[in-house]
Amino acid sequence: ATEDKALITLFGATGDLAKRKLYTSLFKLYQKGYLADHFALLGTSRHEMSDEEFQEMVLNSIKDIPAKDGEAEAFSKHFFYCAHDVTKPEHYAKLKDRLTELDKQFGTEGNRLFYMSMAPQFFGTIAINIKKQGLLTDDGYNRLVIEKPFGRDFDSAKKLNDELSQTFEENQIFRIDHYLGKEMVQNIQALRFGNPVIEALWNNRYIDNIQVTLSEKLGVEERAGYYDNSGALRDMVQNHIMQVVAQLAMEEPVAFTDDDVRVEKIKALRSLRVYTPSQAAANFVRGQYGADGSQPDYRHEDGVDPESGTETFVAAKLMFDNYRWSGVPFYVRTGKKLADKFTRIDVVFKKPLIDIFANPNSGNEQALHSNVLTIFVEPKSGFALQLNAKHVGQGYTTEPVDLKFLQSDSAKKESPEPYERLFHDALEGNHTNFASWAEIAYAWKFVDVIRNLWDIEKPQFPNYTPGSMGPAAATELLARDGRKWVYDL
Ligand code: NAD
Repeated sequence: ATEDKALITLFGATGDLAKRKLYTSLFKLYQKGYLADHFALLGTSRHEMSDEEFQEMVLNSIKDIPAKDGEAEAFSKHFFYCAHDVTKPEHYAKLKDRLTELDKQFGTEGNRLFYMSMAPQFFGTIAINIKKQGLLTDDGYNRLVIEKPFGRDFDSAKKLNDELSQTFEENQIFRIDHYLGKEMVQNIQALRFGNPVIEALWNNRYIDNIQVTLSEKLGVEERAGYYDNSGALRDMVQNHIMQVVAQLAMEEPVAFTDDDVRVEKIKALRSLRVYTPSQAAANFVRGQYGADGSQPDYRHEDGVDPESGTETFVAAKLMFDNYRWSGVPFYVRTGKKLADKFTRIDVVFKKPLIDIFANPNSGNEQALHSNVLTIFVEPKSGFALQLNAKHVGQGYTTEPVDLKFLQSDSAKKESPEPYERLFHDALEGNHTNFASWAEIAYAWKFVDVIRNLWDIEKPQFPNYTPGSMGPAAATELLARDGRKWVYDL
């Protein structure tokens, strides 16, 4: 591996995300040699702490990762700490001095990566101060990695983006959407653009509909305060689902580079039909989970408003108005307390125009099933193609069979976690797996119509049972088009 030389400034260094994901990801990059002698991280938060105490904290976060003797300790010596209140401009002077020192000490050649892992209301302030207080370098690169959520509607996202833009150019900003770090989400493009048998059929002549399901088994857990203010539409649909759908819908990029992929994803999202309020009402379903035995319903979870109208489930029908997809619905759904935890994509092909195996005399109107390509994103990773085949035996009946590829456990173990992959991409300056401003803007404009509608009309909640696949209206959404969810109970 080639070493990435970088000086990382982490805002929110004592936070949950930093401890659970960021230090472990950096350690794995260190073990693989992507990070070596020439990197350092300056952690900041409001707490007072010495460098040694911070190094202890980092060691503690990575203690479960198998390592060579002394490896973890050597890694931790690249970590330094500076107490700092991001809202106080005068505090940035200390940061500036330490960054100058660390740059010299570790020979990071002026490469600076700023990582914002804090409450989003601080993102704009930090960006503005980074420039004003002179934390940018003139030698290497200046990059910003920023956590979600990116705004709560188009206007707030635009305001945030304008603030970031005062300091960073679009090609210096890396907006994290951890779904884009998942192996099988990245595999969508290999599957589509690496296989003529798939790409040749990837259009409205052969595809009947596409279904995307991001299903969670757990309820709101300890994130209630955040979640009740956000809801599934903002938390899952605007970002993760839109990004997955854009990859399914996009045209083939000119080359597999970040710029070329971006252009196509933006074009795809630009052709997504923005609904009028009445179309939105017809094409979106919301839900909130009810009680389950001793488990409370959503409104009685700790930290949730007892009259909350927040949705814990969304199902929707999306339409792209372009030549490839005209007439093909993309059905998407996501929710908490559903039957199981998994993410999958089902591509349902059109039925054969003529079914020569049907035998109406014996009451068999239709023998052939639709071909379905399923992409298993998680927990299992792989894909399956459902075809029609002859049933073994004397007679002649057909039955659906699966051609299936699942990644082995050992391959899965070797596959980097999303945060490790995305951190590395940011260090390499590769934008392929990050959302651009234009994509986020289109996604918000689409979602805002639904949000505004739902904020006005009081929902009839709760409306689905834990362990189900959501409210009856989600089934009805497809049934009225004569279709059904491929994954159903
Ligand atoms: P957290 O509340 O655990 O940590 C926040 C950090 O900010 C702490 O280090 C705190 O000391 C620091 N901080 C707060 N106010 C400050 C101030 N005025 N000046 C300096 N430091 C201050 O948050 P988290 O869960 O780690 O989340 C961080 C970001 O990552 C958020 O944007 C969140 O939405 C996002 N995120 C978190 C998770 C997760 O699993 N925790 C998952 C996805 C995205």
